[in-house]
Amino acid sequence: MDDVKRVLIICAHSDDQVIGAGGTIARLTREGVLVRTFICSFGEQSHPHLKKIDIRKTRVLESQKANHILGGKDVLFLGMREGHFLEDYNRLHWRAKLLRHIHSFKPDRIFTHSVDDPHPDHRAVHKMVQDIYVNGALKCEVYTFDVWNLFNIRKRRSPKLVVDISQTFTRKLDALSAFRSQKIALFTLLWSVYTKAIYYGLRRGVRYAEIFYKVR
Ligand SMILES: [Zn+2]
Repeated sequence: MDDVKRVLIICAHSDDQVIGAGGTIARLTREGVLVRTFICSFGEQSHPHLKKIDIRKTRVLESQKANHILGGKDVLFLGMREGHFLEDYNRLHWRAKLLRHIHSFKPDRIFTHSVDDPHPDHRAVHKMVQDIYVNGALKCEVYTFDVWNLFNIRKRRSPKLVVDISQTFTRKLDALSAFRSQKIALFTLLWSVYTKAIYYGLRRGVRYAEIFYKVR
């Protein structure tokens, strides 16, 4: 990844980038790469009993903390409604707005959700990024990561990028622990974070690894 200087992450919820790419983000920033993250929603639906405004505040603070641990530049919340991403994307002209941000940041590489992820919001983000790429005539590379699917069973032919995260795996776990309000949800995901890191690490001959698929 020597030629990469600026990386943009586009994800649905405040913790997705840490689960899918936290070890890689920490590695990139350690090597001097600027990493910026766009988060589509505030994730209000996971706590329907709490006041929206409180959840927003908590989510922003937690992801800023996690981002700080990973060494990322900044995190931007887009405020789209969960379950309605594509609707909001079209209705609120997000393509043009996001393209402005992307053209000013000039990423060499974008990381986003996989089209195979079972979560509909994650797949919606994948579609938005593909749309932005085609209609904005972007030239950067686009890689995808998995959050809710344990392994990519569809065996797509896209080239793989396996990143050794042995040195930054504990930092990824530290960043995950910043999401205190989502303790229970993250606890159920933790075993898959470990399993994937160890599985891909074994295939690569290292302790822990993350895997990405090149789609553009
Ligand atoms: Zn998510």
